[in-house]
Amino acid sequence: MSYKSGRHFLQIPGPSPVPDRILRAMDNPVIDHRGPEFAELGQAVLAGIKRIFKTESPVVIYPASGTGAWEAALVNTLSPGDRVLMCETGQFATLWHELASKLGLEVEFIPGDWRHGADPQAIAERLRRDDGHQIQAVCVVHNETSTGVTSRIGDIRRAIDDTGHPALFMVDTISGLASADYRHDEWGVDVTVSGSQKGLMLPPGISFNALSDKALARAKQARLPRSYWDWGAMLASNATGYFPYTPATNLLYGLKEAIHMLEVEGLDHVFARHQRHAEATRRAVQAWGLEVLCLNPAEHSPVLTTVLLPEGHDADRLRRLILERFDMSLGAGLGKLKGRVFRIGHLGAINDLTLLGTLAGVEMGLACAGVPHQPGGVQEAMRFLADR
Ligand code: PLP
Repeated sequence: MSYKSGRHFLQIPGPSPVPDRILRAMDNPVIDHRGPEFAELGQAVLAGIKRIFKTESPVVIYPASGTGAWEAALVNTLSPGDRVLMCETGQFATLWHELASKLGLEVEFIPGDWRHGADPQAIAERLRRDDGHQIQAVCVVHNETSTGVTSRIGDIRRAIDDTGHPALFMVDTISGLASADYRHDEWGVDVTVSGSQKGLMLPPGISFNALSDKALARAKQARLPRSYWDWGAMLASNATGYFPYTPATNLLYGLKEAIHMLEVEGLDHVFARHQRHAEATRRAVQAWGLEVLCLNPAEHSPVLTTVLLPEGHDADRLRRLILERFDMSLGAGLGKLKGRVFRIGHLGAINDLTLLGTLAGVEMGLACAGVPHQPGGVQEAMRFLADR
């Protein structure tokens, strides 16, 4: 491997680039996680992360990737054989479905085409037919990272409420939190699952469950086996700023800095910045004459844009070429989209020029790979960003 000058462009939809400020905040000696100094850090992050989820309820922080927090949400609230309703929005919804099935839950999957978000009316229609209230939980992926489609969580909440069905509402916003508008309390979500390596701009390694009173009440009756993931032990220790087992101390230093950065910028500004970069990206894709995978403009992701390649062109070959020539990583097509699409991440610590560099890398790559397209996408994005 020869030396590569300049910074690698990590433009996958997470893990996202970690800002220097966060790297420096984590560059600290490990402290005693049972000592007095730790409690201050614990209390600061446990309080701060609630503001990012927009909740007054507790948020549990696990030393685990997002998959662990998926499992935690289910094992704390459900019992063997419980019926769960999920929506096939893409590969991550499919993986959460698989995980739930392996835990012994009966999972119903509302089918989807991977180009739309979860359909509030389809969920409501299924709940209305569930006279005996067999369905214990509705689980939806907010920002489907495999497709670049964002489900309308507020609309889904209203649709569930219209049915009067008592199922828990669980949402995965692993790639949405701190990039896309998210309101745990206002949207009446019972368990929100998220992770560190996307909008929070941290390395992978910690993940979250934001809770509701209803979820905490269900946890008292839930019979799926749980130990490591048990909210009870976690919340008891968290009350004084500690954890029941060794926390990811240095990631928590980073989390404290990330929360500070997000609050200095202002969450609304953070969301608007992501929307603006997503719009600039879509304009570039349209100018190239390529197709954005997401079909509903109300569901375009502010986090990433998934681009379909013309039939007969291999997206993995294009990504390889862009990595080799321009030192930029783009997201691969996952599951049934393998080779058909590439994903441009525009989340976290980026600015207009990072985005334009990213789009320039894609446009040069399309030309080098011989993918039929019109030049001028970067120009279009520049025009948009300069105007707004
Ligand atoms: N859900 C979504 C929407 C994701 O994007 C990811 C990972 O990218 C996961 C779940 C799984 O999280 P992890 O890979 O951190 O276990």
